[in-house]
Amino acid sequence: MEWQYTLYLIPLAIAALISAGLAWYTWRQRPAAGAISLALLCLSSTVWLVAYALQVASVDLELKLFWAGLRYVGVVGVPMAWFCFALEYTGRLHLLTRRNLALLSIEPLLTLLLVWTNERHHLIWPHPTIDDAGPFAAFKAGLLPAAHGPVWWAHAVYSYALFVWGLYLFFRAFRRSPQLYRGQAGAILAGGMFPLVGNLLSTFWDPLPYLDLTPFSFTLTGLLLTWGLFRFHLLDLVPVARDAVVDGLGDSVLVLDARNRLVDLNPAAVRTLGLTGKQVIGRPAAELFADYGDLVRKLRGVHEAQMGLVLGPAQDRQYFDLRVSPLYDRRGALTGRIVVLHDVTERKRAADELQQAKEEAETANQAKSEFVSVASHDLRVPMTAIRGYTELLLQGVAGPVNEEQAEFLRTIRANIVRMAALVSDLADISRIESGNLRLHLGPVSLRQVLEDVVRAVRIQMEGKEQILTVQDASSLPLVWGDAVRLDQILTNLLNNAHKFSPRGGQIRIHLECVENHWAEDGPPEVVHVAVEDSGIGIRPEDQSKIFEKFFRSEDEEARKAPGTGLGLSIVQSLVELQGGRIWVESEFRRGSTFHFTVPVADWED
Ligand code: ADP
Repeated sequence: MEWQYTLYLIPLAIAALISAGLAWYTWRQRPAAGAISLALLCLSSTVWLVAYALQVASVDLELKLFWAGLRYVGVVGVPMAWFCFALEYTGRLHLLTRRNLALLSIEPLLTLLLVWTNERHHLIWPHPTIDDAGPFAAFKAGLLPAAHGPVWWAHAVYSYALFVWGLYLFFRAFRRSPQLYRGQAGAILAGGMFPLVGNLLSTFWDPLPYLDLTPFSFTLTGLLLTWGLFRFHLLDLVPVARDAVVDGLGDSVLVLDARNRLVDLNPAAVRTLGLTGKQVIGRPAAELFADYGDLVRKLRGVHEAQMGLVLGPAQDRQYFDLRVSPLYDRRGALTGRIVVLHDVTERKRAADELQQAKEEAETANQAKSEFVSVASHDLRVPMTAIRGYTELLLQGVAGPVNEEQAEFLRTIRANIVRMAALVSDLADISRIESGNLRLHLGPVSLRQVLEDVVRAVRIQMEGKEQILTVQDASSLPLVWGDAVRLDQILTNLLNNAHKFSPRGGQIRIHLECVENHWAEDGPPEVVHVAVEDSGIGIRPEDQSKIFEKFFRSEDEEARKAPGTGLGLSIVQSLVELQGGRIWVESEFRRGSTFHFTVPVADWED
């Protein structure tokens, strides 16, 4: 095989190497938008350049035709790749469907087919010959006026159409892109101009006869695009992505440069800051936001900050969470700042409403507590009077009463006693809920308190022939509590035991001083009290509820006893307020044991 060497081969080889390098480099970045098309563009131009170099270097016509045929793979590939790149880069990736790609490929494939079968129809090259007139034996497609065949022209038109269309898309993107992205869009636009210039030069002026400049210009395009893309980090965040993300954001985003001039902002920022219709890009922040008091002054020189911001007139206040973050270039120098305003008006409004509702509820609760406390006090006075006079009547102070009258008077007395208990329970509940229950804490002899309580309840127990026993650990320390409230707790538990146990039932009270293994942060020692009965027991499903306010079991046996469901709830609060714990163990229809603890008096020493 014979070859010829010419100086033209040197630039061709250099350009081919550069193109191949760019193809490899961009291919490696292919997850980024546009990178694959760009890699294909560089690859096509490499094929074009290599085949062209071999076409130049070969001597006989047949070989030249072979390389020219191969060159066309690159020739048809370049405009396609360019067009795909334009679509992808300007956010039209969705148009690159299989169908559209197939349609776009029809013409290039047909051209290739006709190139390879040219000797049968001469539609591409009308009269291929070797031209020996120049510095080397060059390939000539035909003689003027028919230097090129009709299909060659058709393909030239198709390629130009794709090329110019792509350029137009970039031009639109350039015009619409914000200041910040002008540089990269401009680099792409400039890159796209080279092939046009190169091709027009070669076709109409031919400064270097025998050499087609078009493939060189594509190397330059590839160079400029790759530089533009990676220098500006185009493939990291193409303007299209920036548009989609930042423009669609509900938050207001503003970008300031190092000299505090506004270089970019999104539609939300335009709306929020009332900048509609104003020319704001490039203007100093101090001038644009002069109305916002000393905000700009406060943020001057602050690279990173977060603060609240209130905008708008009093009746239409808007609340924002303002964040400032620095922007650095790749060398770490500060190039500007991003300011993001996040609207928290709704959140603030909801929080305000919640606070208001809470305050109203607290006021209402306070009013209720006051009412209950006043009412219970006012009720107690007449009740005491009724009870006193009933007692006097029963004692015959106002004259003799017969048995029937005495029975009625006893009923009145029993009901007054119940009413007084109820009123006193209600007053306690209201004081507990409002936090107004005052305890008189001090060292208390629990045994003493228990003796008083037992004395009081023993009579009713005997009435039902119930047996009450107290098992007392011999040395019981004093407890730290409120004697009156401890009395109330024990009375309540014993009353329940009496109420819910049958005639002749057993009631046992057990007291002992134990280590406090129930709570880690509580007192080290407590007195543990257990009130055990052989009564009706509590259904397992009720056991977790009996300490709730107004809870009364649906169990028919429990329903036989009168009550309000307030007692245990008060008892639980009183135990806990004195630093103890209360719980229940029960076997349905066998009996229940109520346990509670009280701290011993000297646990703090
Ligand atoms: P009241 O006794 O006024 O109904 P409590 O708060 O004292 O209210 O008790 C709540 C419920 O717990 C009672 O209605 C009853 O069903 C159940 N209960 C309380 N103590 C006992 C007990 N010793 N044995 C069985 N059930 C009990």
